[in-house]
Amino acid sequence: MNPFQLRGGRLHCEAVPLERIAEAVGTPVYVYSTAGMQRRARALKAALSPLADPLIAYAVKANPNAAVLATLAAEGLGADVVSGGEYRRARAAGIAAEKIVFSGVGKTQAEMALALEEGLCQFNLESVAEAEMLSRIALSMGRTAPVGFRVNPDVAAGSHAKISTGAAHNKFGIAIGETLQAYARARDLPGLEVRGVAVHIGSQLTSLEPLEAAFGKVGELIRSLRADGHEIRTADLGGGLGIAYDPSAPPPPTLSDYGDMASRIAGDWGARLIFEPGRIIVGDAGVLLTRVIRVKPGPARPFVILDAAMNDLLRPSLYDAWHAIDAVVPTGERTIADVVGPICETGDTFALARDMDRVEAGALMAIRGAGAYAATMASTYNSRPLPPEVLVNGGEWAVIRERQDIEALIRADTLPAWLAR
Ligand SMILES: *Cc1c(COP(=O)(O)O)cnc(C)c1O
Repeated sequence: MNPFQLRGGRLHCEAVPLERIAEAVGTPVYVYSTAGMQRRARALKAALSPLADPLIAYAVKANPNAAVLATLAAEGLGADVVSGGEYRRARAAGIAAEKIVFSGVGKTQAEMALALEEGLCQFNLESVAEAEMLSRIALSMGRTAPVGFRVNPDVAAGSHAKISTGAAHNKFGIAIGETLQAYARARDLPGLEVRGVAVHIGSQLTSLEPLEAAFGKVGELIRSLRADGHEIRTADLGGGLGIAYDPSAPPPPTLSDYGDMASRIAGDWGARLIFEPGRIIVGDAGVLLTRVIRVKPGPARPFVILDAAMNDLLRPSLYDAWHAIDAVVPTGERTIADVVGPICETGDTFALARDMDRVEAGALMAIRGAGAYAATMASTYNSRPLPPEVLVNGGEWAVIRERQDIEALIRADTLPAWLAR
């Protein structure tokens, strides 16, 4: 069940009316549902329950707020991190080091040393040069780095080009044809302990076919690696399953379809399976709550101008993403309008020719599907302070990130001596 429902004609998050949060915190504000996240985490655990001891490493980049991480840590999830900052956030939120997978195409020496110092499940390496660097650093610290290589299976993910990662021309992973050589090289590196294989082909996938094709290639690769004498104990199958942004589009596969497919393809590999879900856990558990500044007539249809903009939620401009936009107190009247933000860019558009609730200046609206890749991509473009975040839990709610103070934003810049004189 969606945690954002109309109750008595007013949109709520769980038992809390969104109007109450808007009055107390102002708009724009991100609002997340604890129950929404828990439900998805539990559904994924249930879907993967036929597997022996899978590790679900939540992709921190989807939503790295400390309260979100703590909620998911309490569900037993680990973390997939792609930077030293994410590693530290995951640890600060109480995620055990041995449940952390370190991914990313450009890990630095400092990031490697940080994770080696505190520990982790494994590094997913993306090149032989990276393996060589990690081995040197591990040796200098008197450690052994647990590693797998991320392979690029050369499958088309079928999602937006900017979030497809598993085709040969994408920057990610080692070409599948070069993996045997890479593993042979890694075996000779004294600072590494080769443990597994990893794959992640992209995000917002709405079909299981590319995932199944990629997993199949990983299975073949594991057989070849074992034939070469490598002990492969983990297989990281990445993330990528999509959510239903547009209720009128065909629904993406369910978590149980996904779990069934993973168990069928990989259940007998004799390896511990690792999953790195991001969007599927938090995407539907958040909205961006925003107020209509005014409605301006346009040549074909009106512009509904919100107080949220592309700096708060970049997905529509970056990925042409479709988000449902609903009045918090719908009247039942409908209109066709363009929904835009106040930023001085034509790309600051949330929806074109949208069939939507008719709203007036001052109306509250909820942009749905804003739990993942939303607040985390916010910027201060147009000198707009970063938006606050609120977490709801049943009838309770709390600010989990304050709205950025414009004074703090101004103070962050410093004048050189010749201008300060
Ligand atoms: C972003 C990312 C994920 C999570 O992707 P979702 O589509 O949010 O599930 C998982 N693994 C890696 C390596 C990633 O970069």
